[in-house]
Amino acid sequence: MKLTEIYSSGKTRFSLEVFPPKENKNKENDLLSTLRELERFRPALVSVTYGAGGSSREKSAGLVKRINNEAKLTPMPHFTCVCSNTQFIESYLKELEREGVENILALKGDPPKGFNDEGAFSHADELVAFIKDKTNLSIAVAGYPECHKDAKDFDSDIYFLKKKIDCGACAIFTQLFFDNKKFFAYLEKIKKANINVPVIPGILPVKNIAQLQKMTIMCGASIPLDMLHKYERFEDNSEDSIKLGIEIAIKQIEELIDNGANGIHLYTLNQRRMTYEILQHFN
Ligand code: FAD
Repeated sequence: MKLTEIYSSGKTRFSLEVFPPKENKNKENDLLSTLRELERFRPALVSVTYGAGGSSREKSAGLVKRINNEAKLTPMPHFTCVCSNTQFIESYLKELEREGVENILALKGDPPKGFNDEGAFSHADELVAFIKDKTNLSIAVAGYPECHKDAKDFDSDIYFLKKKIDCGACAIFTQLFFDNKKFFAYLEKIKKANINVPVIPGILPVKNIAQLQKMTIMCGASIPLDMLHKYERFEDNSEDSIKLGIEIAIKQIEELIDNGANGIHLYTLNQRRMTYEILQHFN
């Protein structure tokens, strides 16, 4: 099912982000079993990350195919264009389409250390236009409720977000954030810019304080002080810490749904328990 259809139902749809396990086939099999189990909650789609520079291209494509064929869920591969030429991009995307993939998250990506970015496109808007021209894929793009780290300022970040929509994207999936007020302010900016596509908030259920700090450094999301203090009370990965993470994520999601979110994108980090309990709560 294509993105526009998924988000036109009027109901809040959950999507799950997973990554291709690096280690071995068993981990991938475990992930597939988890996804088959989560299928009962009818997630709208499962998005699969892609290593910028193409480091995970085979593993990502392999997992996308298995999600489509074995888990019978709708996959949405991510694709980053840094360090890739147009010939490769076209053949990679056409191969996904041949496998029955209908949606893609089109990204610029950050060049891995030591790589010179000699890709065909300098920003995601050019990738979106290319995908629109060469394929029938439904295209989503990334948005940043706390502004992208390299943007000149917030207004220019929104300006370029609009450009990605004008080039053919039909949905925005956001970077993770913990403070809903920042997301609501972002929606206001988006509305003002005349961007009229679904904006799907990205939620990370946090297992422990170390993970909270690591992910926020990586993604630039600010941590509300009261949230930090709550995690400080518990040992890493203790039952209390995990339960706290589930509770905080549920509260955050409830407020987003009450305010009309079309979808919720869960950054699962391939974690079964937290994902399961959150989906079960909203089922
Ligand atoms: P762009 O939209 O190109 O924006 C990058 C920066 O350039 C922004 O500051 C923007 O304001 C500016 N800009 C945009 N267009 C122009 C223009 N035409 N001229 C001048 N400036 C411009 N990374 C991965 O490696 N793999 C993944 O699987 C992955 N998945 C992600 C999923 C989500 C939901 C999100 C939010 C991010 C994900 N990322 C992933 C991270 C992403 O690749 C990085 O944040 C990257 O730095 C920016 O990618 P982008 O597509 O947002 O870039």
